[in-house]
Amino acid sequence: MCGIIGYVGNNDAKPLLLDGLKRMEYRGYDSAGVALRSKNEKEEVLIRRCVGHVEKLVEATEEITASYPEGIAHTRWATHGVPSEVNAHPHSAELLVLVHNGIIENHAEIKRELMDEGIAFESQTDTEVFAKLLNKKIETLLLKMSKKITELETSEQSSLVFDALEDASKDVQGHYAVLFMLKDLPGRLFMLQSGAPLVAGLADGGALVASDLQALLPSTQEVSFIPVGSLSEIVGDKISIFSIDGREPIETKFEKIEWTADKVAKDGFEHFMLKEIFQQPSVIADTLTGRMPVSDLGAFVWDNPVAHEALWKNVNKVYLIACGTAYHAALTAKYYFEKWAKVTVEVDVASEFRYRSPVLEPGTIVGVISQSGETADTLAALRLANDSGLSTFSVCNVPGSTIMRESN
Ligand code: GLU
Repeated sequence: MCGIIGYVGNNDAKPLLLDGLKRMEYRGYDSAGVALRSKNEKEEVLIRRCVGHVEKLVEATEEITASYPEGIAHTRWATHGVPSEVNAHPHSAELLVLVHNGIIENHAEIKRELMDEGIAFESQTDTEVFAKLLNKKIETLLLKMSKKITELETSEQSSLVFDALEDASKDVQGHYAVLFMLKDLPGRLFMLQSGAPLVAGLADGGALVASDLQALLPSTQEVSFIPVGSLSEIVGDKISIFSIDGREPIETKFEKIEWTADKVAKDGFEHFMLKEIFQQPSVIADTLTGRMPVSDLGAFVWDNPVAHEALWKNVNKVYLIACGTAYHAALTAKYYFEKWAKVTVEVDVASEFRYRSPVLEPGTIVGVISQSGETADTLAALRLANDSGLSTFSVCNVPGSTIMRESN
């Protein structure tokens, strides 16, 4: 799950959004994008997307010199579809532009149905499926009323969008959050919190919403955590929240975050190690969500089962190589590999491995672990294994890092 941020107000949205994306960079991501719009509903929404770092998005948006008072932005950690410009968020449909965190588990089935109805897709993402599904729901409701959305009263517009959103949420499975703008309704942001975090605040002459507290804190310390299972709308400085089921209004409660920036980076814990220990359940859940259907917690669905099968078929030994804490993780992993995969595992410190002359026989697979994906000794060990013609894999926290790119 990666980063979402949105702004609506009177100031220039672009620097606020790009700055917010930068504050979420620590989470790791592979691509980024932004959508900006003016207050004039006739003016098109501007979208810029790119693979790589937010800095590249900053460059890609340098030519946008006009000030736009609202927008949404995203850093993506690809779960469905390769990291590419076309798969980067925001995703658009006829009536809306949307960013999404998390996973739509049953995206393939819904996509097939929408395609059978003649709806075209440009990306491989589950996100575009949600965007097109929601768009269809809104269009269907408008068709029933024989009206354009701009012909409705403001309150009717909101309830129509909420009806469509509720309906779409019933069709999809997964843990996710979406934030979107309707092309014809300037000055408003809509969102659905269905298991992925969203936090909002009033600041910078308007309202900000993000998936991560850190993106908001330079602007405001008074924040409101959007509850799971809710639909919300931000208009001006008003954040209206409703339950998905029963559309009950939920009070927007603000709380003051007293943490220093340093403490925020540690999620309120005394030190990073404690934070990371307590994060383990959510990190494991995030890692497995895309590969494990929610309805069937017993079965893994690997993205490419054939490739995985071929990879493991003739393996009779696993080398796990790392440094420091990652080395300790490898020592733990040895227990699981031996218990469940019934394969011999040798764990080695990367600097020892690379400077010895390890015997690397066919049938050995080498796995390296590195938080940054750049650890020099671990990278050298990986290259040694690659040069010996062995299959290699890596466990990293930074998509696009050298170790991730070079493990075969
Ligand atoms: N599943 C979406 C995608 O692959 C969103 C991933 C994310 O949370 O960054 O594009």
